[in-house]
Amino acid sequence: MAKTIIVSNRLPISLRHRNGKFEFKPSAGGLATGLGSIYKSGENIWIGWPGNTIEDPEQRAEIILELHELKMAPVFLSKEDVTKFYEGFSNETLWPAFHYFTQYIEYNPDHWESYREVNRKFCDAILKKADPDDTIWVHDYQLLLLPQMLREALPNATIAFFQHIPFPSYEIMRMIPWRQQLLEGVCGADLIGFHTYDDMRHFLSAVGRITGLSSESGYIQAENRIINVDSFPMGIDYGKFVKQAKSKKTQNIVKNFRNQVGDQKLILTIDRLDYSKGIPQRIHAFHDLLKDHKELHGKVSMIMIVVPSRDKVKSYKELREEIDLLVGRINAEYSTLNWVPVHYFYRSFPFEELSAFYSMSDIALVTPLRDGMNLVCKEYVASRGDQGGVLILSEMAGASKELRDAFLVNPNDREGVKTAIHQGLTLDESEQKTRMASMQEVLQRYDIFQWVKVFMDRLEHVKSKQNELT
Ligand code: UDP
Repeated sequence: MAKTIIVSNRLPISLRHRNGKFEFKPSAGGLATGLGSIYKSGENIWIGWPGNTIEDPEQRAEIILELHELKMAPVFLSKEDVTKFYEGFSNETLWPAFHYFTQYIEYNPDHWESYREVNRKFCDAILKKADPDDTIWVHDYQLLLLPQMLREALPNATIAFFQHIPFPSYEIMRMIPWRQQLLEGVCGADLIGFHTYDDMRHFLSAVGRITGLSSESGYIQAENRIINVDSFPMGIDYGKFVKQAKSKKTQNIVKNFRNQVGDQKLILTIDRLDYSKGIPQRIHAFHDLLKDHKELHGKVSMIMIVVPSRDKVKSYKELREEIDLLVGRINAEYSTLNWVPVHYFYRSFPFEELSAFYSMSDIALVTPLRDGMNLVCKEYVASRGDQGGVLILSEMAGASKELRDAFLVNPNDREGVKTAIHQGLTLDESEQKTRMASMQEVLQRYDIFQWVKVFMDRLEHVKSKQNELT
């Protein structure tokens, strides 16, 4: 029987070496949970990089065995691969380009070479496990060349690709010297998914103009088969957030936090450290709010969680310093002995504490300059058992296409963000409930499990349509 292989750059585990032994901690992320129903059943498997560089053959053998138990198989990367393929081409070329940060794009042929080689490594690892009729679902921008590599080796396989970050307009795509190879690489798939309709349109337009392949109604006509391209907005594990928010543990943490911050209003922001998240712009907007509304002094605080990420890369290090500076300034200007405007945490939090922050915050302020989807805003909505609270959401986040009842803002419009925060702070309860209930309905209906199902059903449909045509 044909099996399904999931492929992503990182395996859904974290691997730690302690006291001469490896410890495997499965990831609790939404994607890993959603795909759990697939890779954990039958002969199916998840292939990817375990996240550490391991050269020792004995250690590699140990990891292969342990991962086998978890229905996973590793692709081992060298230190050089990590520097050039992952930190280099993936995170310093594709990431900034696809998020419209053209000033940060590196054009390094050596990194491109490594990107090709590592995609080939993934292909080889998959071919060791795959049979000709298997289904292979490749995830994200680190593996854009992989679908075509697989297609050449397994012409009859069912191959799908999903991109979790934005896809930029043709005008950006054409800046990348290796644009044609990248697009042809993805077009090895039978089904190509994005979070939003706009991403899908940009992709189809770039494919048409750069590779010359024509398309109609979301179907690309390749040489000997059709390829379907569509949007599949990813959901969250909705039930898990509802349950956690209701739990005794989270309720106790809320009480404890409340005791510490008193009855002031709370504005929550949570992001990974990334220039795409618009963190400095948000602090500026909050600063303006405090400048213009003295009556809010002592009555509202921002809880700002920034999860450390890529902080050895220059642009990220600079961003961190800028945030430190801005938070320092605003607190120095407005703090009193019993009030701090911004509570800033540069670290990650355990799930039950995140759930507490979501449950108790009057506003979630989610204002990325560009974001493929953004899960934080969805998690906030799911955690509001009381249907209170206000979501202020950037129209540049993929999630804004679904969460129409949020206060939608342009993150570059400082005045607009300031006004939205003020409106949010004064919004009456019944209006909060109406908006929250409608957003909850959307997220509950289209959760991560539904997302996986809809995508896999479509893949089957595309395959049968191809068969009809041949
Ligand atoms: N998150 C986490 N620990 C934290 C803060 C956040 O695990 O201390 C999670 C959060 O729950 C969310 C994810 O990090 O699921 C961030 O996803 P999002 O799509 O918002 O942004 P990304 O980091 O993928 O760009």
